[in-house]
Amino acid sequence: MGRATLAERLTKNEYLAPGSGSTLPAMSITTPKSPAASQLTRTVRAGLESDDTTGCVVPPIHLSSTFAFRGFGEKRSYDYTRSGNPTRDLLASALAELELGAGAVVTATGMAAITLVGYLIPAGSRIVAPHDCYGGTYRLFDAWRKRGERDVEFVDFADEAAVRAALAKPTALLWIETPSNPLLRITDIESFAQLAHAHGALVAVDNTFLSPVWQQPLTLGADLAVHSTTKYLNGHSDVVGGAVVARDAALHEQLTWWANCLGVTGAPFDSFLTLRGVRTLHARLEQHGRNASELARWLTERSGVRRVYYPGLPSHPGHEIARRQQRGFGGVVTLEIEGGHDAVREFLAGLQFFSLAESLGGVESLVAHPATMTHAAMDPAARLRAGLADGLIRLSIGIEGLEDLRSDLALGLERAAAARGGSVRLRRGAGG
Ligand code: PLP
Repeated sequence: MGRATLAERLTKNEYLAPGSGSTLPAMSITTPKSPAASQLTRTVRAGLESDDTTGCVVPPIHLSSTFAFRGFGEKRSYDYTRSGNPTRDLLASALAELELGAGAVVTATGMAAITLVGYLIPAGSRIVAPHDCYGGTYRLFDAWRKRGERDVEFVDFADEAAVRAALAKPTALLWIETPSNPLLRITDIESFAQLAHAHGALVAVDNTFLSPVWQQPLTLGADLAVHSTTKYLNGHSDVVGGAVVARDAALHEQLTWWANCLGVTGAPFDSFLTLRGVRTLHARLEQHGRNASELARWLTERSGVRRVYYPGLPSHPGHEIARRQQRGFGGVVTLEIEGGHDAVREFLAGLQFFSLAESLGGVESLVAHPATMTHAAMDPAARLRAGLADGLIRLSIGIEGLEDLRSDLALGLERAAAARGGSVRLRRGAGG
């Protein structure tokens, strides 16, 4: 008989503590489902009119940390908010629907979601991850590796032979982040998932940069879709949160058990706000995507801009895969400007409509310098290997007026050019 895959062994509860299934909370409120409705409609209406007690259209926030038993031995659907909460469950079911998964666990942060996934695999087992993943993911995996808690191999995912070689060694988890942060490299989820499954590994995809509206990793063969809901799902830069959506019920049960055990579940108030954000996800993404693709194209035509990274550009190495597996190209544009630190400082100095801040996916535009901000957790050698040059700037394009954003960036490029002693002009030969 062939060796059972890790996903199959997990399904058989091999790593779950005995008796854990009985601690799972039941959902007392469910999102009304209409199989005929579009994803757009279901997203807007997730959880509406779900409270029969009052008939309120918008679901209430259940802030209570604890729930009274009916009587001795008579537990209701919920007993304690760490293990289950109606407001959080509404968000979880909306996210599971969006990702077409069997269930979701809502966590306190995106990093908590990533940590949770790490607990699905046995101590000492091996993770293969992209060498240019989000800096916080890199820091967590690297810390596990250094402490011997997990064996982690960081690989250049653009080099398929290197990924094949890495997966040839016994591997418990293949971690994919596509598009990656901040270079927006694209990984072919379907083919990498097939490869990982053939070696018995679980496949998790960090889908933060696109949201399920633009990409649904579970439909491409992944076992888990992971989110920092801090970003597009909430969309208003006022909540830090995360989620893991599982392909099947057994994996969802594992996640639920570990989330309660570790205490990484999200707060009810944050869940309420995030669900409110989810209702406008489609509308926001449309504007994010339109602004980002216009600005990416425009930036390719500016002198002083060494490179523009945006999967929607035909020149992007992952463009064809992105066209196939995504329904939108995203709202993040990364550029590398000439002139090093001085030029970056001048570019950033007078921006009016881009706040100099980490994070992305909010309605407001943000600008970040990965080398000193989001990816400062990586040591300089690892940053260099991952292609994160000092002149790299990441733009989270918001939903403001396109012309305001464009003129702000134009002035930034003029300041950067002045710092280099040059002037900004169209690149020779560039169209439009
Ligand atoms: N994954 C990606 C791709 C991210 O960009 C981030 C944060 O920037 C995270 C995970 C971590 O999320 P959080 O900051 O909500 O913990």
